[in-house]
Amino acid sequence: MLGFSIFPEVSGMPHTEREELTPKESNQLLLPGGHPPMWNHMDSIGPIGLPHREGVPGCSQEGLPYPSNSSELVLECLQQFKVTGTQLQQIQASLLDSMEQALGGQASPASAVRMLPTYVGSIPHGTEQGDFVVLELGATGASLRVLWVTLMGTGGHRMEPRSQEFVIPPEVMLGPGQQLFDFAAHCLSEFLDALPVGKQGLQLGFSFSFPCHQTGLDRSTLISWTKGFRCSGVEGHDVVQLLRDAIKRHGAYNIDVVAVVNDTVGTMMGCEPGVGPCEVGLVVDTGTNACYMEEARHVAVLDEDRGRVCVSVEWGSFGDDGVLGPMLTIFDHALDRESLNPGAQRFEKMIGGLYLGELVRLVLVHLAQRGVLFGGCTSPALLSRGSILLEHVAEMEDPWAGAARVHALLQDLGLNVGASDVELVQYVCAAVFTRAARLCAAALAAVLSRLQHSREQQILQIAVATGGRVFEQHPSFLSILQETVMLLTPECDVSFIPSVDGGGRGVAMVTAVAARLAAHRHLLEETLAPFQLNHEQLAAVQAQMREAMVKGLRGEASSLRMLPTYVRATPDGSERGDFLALDLGGTNFRVLLVRVTAEGVKITNQIYSIPENVAQGSGQQGILLNWTKGFSASDCEGQDIVCLLREAIGRRQAVELNVVAIVNDTVGTMMSCGYEDPRCEVGLIVGTGTNACYMEELRNVAAVAGDSGQMCINMEWGAFGDDGSLGLLRTCFDASVDQASINPGKQSFEKMISGMYLGEIVRHILLHLTSLGVLFRGQQTQRLQTRDIFKTKFLSEIESDSLALRQVRAILEDLGLSLTSDDALMVLEVCQAVSQRAAQLCGAGVAAVVEKIRENRGLEELTVSIGVDGTLYKLHPHFSSLVAATVRELAPRCVVTFLQSEDGSGKGAALVTAVACRLAQMARV
Ligand code: ADP
Repeated sequence: MLGFSIFPEVSGMPHTEREELTPKESNQLLLPGGHPPMWNHMDSIGPIGLPHREGVPGCSQEGLPYPSNSSELVLECLQQFKVTGTQLQQIQASLLDSMEQALGGQASPASAVRMLPTYVGSIPHGTEQGDFVVLELGATGASLRVLWVTLMGTGGHRMEPRSQEFVIPPEVMLGPGQQLFDFAAHCLSEFLDALPVGKQGLQLGFSFSFPCHQTGLDRSTLISWTKGFRCSGVEGHDVVQLLRDAIKRHGAYNIDVVAVVNDTVGTMMGCEPGVGPCEVGLVVDTGTNACYMEEARHVAVLDEDRGRVCVSVEWGSFGDDGVLGPMLTIFDHALDRESLNPGAQRFEKMIGGLYLGELVRLVLVHLAQRGVLFGGCTSPALLSRGSILLEHVAEMEDPWAGAARVHALLQDLGLNVGASDVELVQYVCAAVFTRAARLCAAALAAVLSRLQHSREQQILQIAVATGGRVFEQHPSFLSILQETVMLLTPECDVSFIPSVDGGGRGVAMVTAVAARLAAHRHLLEETLAPFQLNHEQLAAVQAQMREAMVKGLRGEASSLRMLPTYVRATPDGSERGDFLALDLGGTNFRVLLVRVTAEGVKITNQIYSIPENVAQGSGQQGILLNWTKGFSASDCEGQDIVCLLREAIGRRQAVELNVVAIVNDTVGTMMSCGYEDPRCEVGLIVGTGTNACYMEELRNVAAVAGDSGQMCINMEWGAFGDDGSLGLLRTCFDASVDQASINPGKQSFEKMISGMYLGEIVRHILLHLTSLGVLFRGQQTQRLQTRDIFKTKFLSEIESDSLALRQVRAILEDLGLSLTSDDALMVLEVCQAVSQRAAQLCGAGVAAVVEKIRENRGLEELTVSIGVDGTLYKLHPHFSSLVAATVRELAPRCVVTFLQSEDGSGKGAALVTAVACRLAQMARV
């Protein structure tokens, strides 16, 4: 493993000397041999225009002899490439500012470095293993690389990857997107054909090094092409999908594209573990970029408060808003004008390998045309864009390459190379490269300052993984970079580590993690699939419910008891008077005075706790389910009821109140909403349990004599399915919850819907997923095995959009579970699946009820309201809207309004009496 210290041996300078450098003094161009050229000490000069010359084509007038001061003219021109220490510090500060703005989500689009989260949440542990295919696009310019990487886990030594590089034809780089991805698929199979591998089940990591919006480890939308690519129909699309489609079209191999990363992430992730954490990836190849591990809580778009996430800085676009203005030379402007993306990626165009050769070429043309180089002559090659490449520049500047080699390279370009030309051209190369390295260092310094600040460390010890051909090919890029970084961030102790296998290993590493996550996701989806009910399944529930209702009403065997309530009308708003209601709850006994006037309903109540000896001895469960009992009215008919109640109160035995008419909570809810809205003819409860009631035609009710009029029917729908009719929908988790309940085999519908059970269903699913190793790293905890530990209110909290994953963590950590962000997301999905099924089943039941009312009345369309109560319905963030959506879908000819009841129990009980009084009065008249 190679690790460079920040005092590299390569520059050959003694340690002490370097420590004394000030930013200003260090602004030296390192020439071949390490001697600073004299122009470094000159003051900067004004801008030079590119002159337009006439005369012999390709030559300055009559092939002028060199001006005697030619080297001074060269240095004068190169002065433009000088960046002062102050300027570097300005870049560092300004980039840091942009980064922080972008992290906070407040960057203006023009100024922004993008700070894109990559969904890589942790640096590798070294335990990753397996064989992976890696496809690299965009890391190395106009070529595409395919690698076969074997990860050995903790035990084995590193194996050299097999790799092959394919040149991408220019027409493919600029053609339709589909052609580019088809080309990639073709290269993949050509590479794999030569390996002894099967054609099935290969896992691929896609290294795609362009600015992308990533929304998952395998979902990434291209924002814009850079680095000389401009294929149509790719920007704004998911590049993973495009690759998958192309591989499928090609058909030769069954390859699963598991993860997508960019080259910086690959570089960082592939770093050999052992030299401390490597948490920065820096790439200078065709383009330039960096990534680093940021605290997740600082990344506004993520809504995560724990852990770290790898963020791609996308610093190539730094300065697109103009902050680099004074530093841009006439050559930078000329290069930008002629590029594929004028005005964009201005910082990258001063650093990236795709542009360095071109900058050198533009300077050489300029100097030749001014008669300073090549006998004042240019050549067609020198005048053509792209004729000087990164490797030429690197070689020409290489102090060991020798004058003869530079000479040969220039002659290859068809130039007349004079005696002093070689050295002057080397100056040009050095100037362009030095500036690139120093700018890159300023940008890296911004990242390091950011890290040091967010880690709150006095001295930040950190390793930076470097990758890309500029590092590999240029002799002094790294050393200039290191020295400048050291000067700009004296508080950081940085070691530089060259990347392994050009980042391919890191891509494989991410792929290994992603493959594991994909396998887990598959298991999760398999587990939750039975909870996802389609239209046919829900319509079948509706039909079964309808059938059970009819049978129950007829008195035939049915899981629905369809109890008559003797409530024969809903309020019409004309009810008046004072009513007394007694509400017997599990622990409290409430006395309510309900005053019904033209202005509305006013309730005064007093709460008494029930003495233990009274509470005991009566059926607790019965009290809980039928909690509202007893009512009276002083000034209306129904004397017998008043009598009974008085007697009962006289005896002070709460249980005696049972003999008084019982108003079920669903009926109370319907009646209390009915006072506000006469169309309210259905009552629904979704709280601890669930139930519904509705106004049925008396002629359909076998148990009650009479054929005209209506009666409210208490469906007791919680028991729906107890005859086995819901069998197909019940999952093994429902079975577990049922078995552990106090009434196994009973209340089947309720056990899939109501608050008493949803948390339990979720808990059983979480236990199952943990046993599969999908959640919590397979670690079971005692607490999660405790019944009822996972409250139904947790579903509401976890699913509430504003709190999201943060909330999941807080809740589960309270349960003693430590979880990764992948765990948190999965728990959220489990909750969603369970509550969605509950709401949809409830909606299917409601659809059966409203459709029956519509058909009873022979209506084309029914407009009806439903009074609803229950904490689950009211407080869960999505339950009510899912119920409504399901009803719309299954009962399209009913226009249903849902009304939430307030104090349905007391108010409803009083209103039942009030309506009874009204009906009795009408009968007397
Ligand atoms: P009950 O139905 O017992 O008369 P509620 O309508 O208040 O009373 O329902 C209580 C039930 O609601 C609790 O048992 C619990 O399961 C559930 N619950 C409580 N808080 C919430 C919440 N925030 N979100 C969803 N369900 C909840």
